[in-house]
Amino acid sequence: METTLAIIKPDAYADGNTGKIIDIIISEGFKIIAMKQIHLSKKDAEGFYEVHKERPFFNELTSFMSSGCCVVLSLERENAVSKWRDVIGTTNPEEAANDTIRKKFGKNTGNNAVHGSDSAENGILESNYFFSKRELI
Ligand code: ADP
Ligand code: MG
Repeated sequence: METTLAIIKPDAYADGNTGKIIDIIISEGFKIIAMKQIHLSKKDAEGFYEVHKERPFFNELTSFMSSGCCVVLSLERENAVSKWRDVIGTTNPEEAANDTIRKKFGKNTGNNAVHGSDSAENGILESNYFFSKRELI
């Protein structure tokens, strides 16, 4: 079993797509081991995306992620990291495969509806960033 962190980003949340995305998560066989609604501060978003702090889009990204509510979920499944990345599609929704979440609900490379961890190690680290031991069921 592997863990990945999913975030329903402020664009998808504001568009009312949270329930549809959670339905996809469940139907794709992920077990939700923790879930909460959260409005990130700019500092929370900067901490989460620290690996991107030298990138030109860092300020845009962290402003967007702190612009409204998100739903964060820690997900467990066999090959959770790569499976979730398959389900969400490429970073740029325009290039994403049909039927992926980013294709269906994303707007552009920045406002792309959802987050997914990029490795099993980061899946754990990112889950621990948002959830206490007591919240991870
Ligand atoms: P992914 O979320 O697919 O793993 P990255 O880790 O490369 O993509 O980037 C993290 C997030 O930063 C993306 O999901 C997207 O919201 C934002 N981002 C990435 N590249 C750009 C860009 N060129 N311009 C604006 N925002 C970007
Ligand atoms: Mg990434």
